[in-house]
Amino acid sequence: MRIDLHAHSTASDGTDTPAELVATAAASGLNAVALTDHDTTAGWAEAVDALPAGLRLIRGAEFSCIASDGRGGGVSIHLLGYLFDPDAEVITAEQARLRDERRTRLRAMAERMATDGFPVDPDVLLAGLPPDAPAGRPHLARALVSAGVVSSVAEAFHRFLNTGGPYYIGRADTDVRTVIRMVRAAGGVPVLAHPAADRCGPLVLPDLIAELAAEGLAGVEADHPEHTGDERDGLRDLATALGLLITGSSDYHGANKAVLLGQETTDPEVLERIEELAARSGVPAVTG
Ligand SMILES: [Zn+2]
Ligand SMILES: [Zn+2]
Repeated sequence: MRIDLHAHSTASDGTDTPAELVATAAASGLNAVALTDHDTTAGWAEAVDALPAGLRLIRGAEFSCIASDGRGGGVSIHLLGYLFDPDAEVITAEQARLRDERRTRLRAMAERMATDGFPVDPDVLLAGLPPDAPAGRPHLARALVSAGVVSSVAEAFHRFLNTGGPYYIGRADTDVRTVIRMVRAAGGVPVLAHPAADRCGPLVLPDLIAELAAEGLAGVEADHPEHTGDERDGLRDLATALGLLITGSSDYHGANKAVLLGQETTDPEVLERIEELAARSGVPAVTG
């Protein structure tokens, strides 16, 4: 059994459509793949419809969160939620709020660029977004590529859009404790994504992981392409000490990153435990 519990489609910032993603998963020899787009479940239905025989789809999402660092600042945290009910009111209300917030932010970045003379039309950009997906910097980056301002999404980020860049505007993310409670209330299983990957900001510290475990966190993603061997070992020891599940996942983004689907995997027993936890929540499972 080969299981990859973290992958992105065009419903967020991946380049494979959900249908292409499940086809790629089957071609990669996976038995199960989780679709975990950023802050949206909009890709689930297409993935289910296109699911190849023999491949299991684990429905999920990756929530963008913050946690107070205790010094007046915030640490950016990604939280994976698996097998939650996407129609639970706690989930739909939060996703509607996030969609609005993301669009407002994207428009503000595009307006700044337009004011400075770049060939970007905020109205056209906003009108071209997928209706149910959160808007983000990759959408603006692709518009800059189309307009010939830059030759790649990476160049757009490097020159204009990276954190601290000239057109970067920060997001107002939800506190991670709130999101853990939300995923649980919707019958799902919360797992901390790539705690040692530092591209999102400061590392997620052991004390914070212990605190989140007490709040209902179920697992930690130890095997991730951006984690070193030492970081993986440290996370495994910490997870074991805290009684948390240990997952491994590729965080596949299609052509947006040089990571292959199935490059990192999760033990079948861990997926079984995740499914048991979701079944025990009392919220009916989403199937079909
Ligand atoms: Zn992430
Ligand atoms: Zn991810």
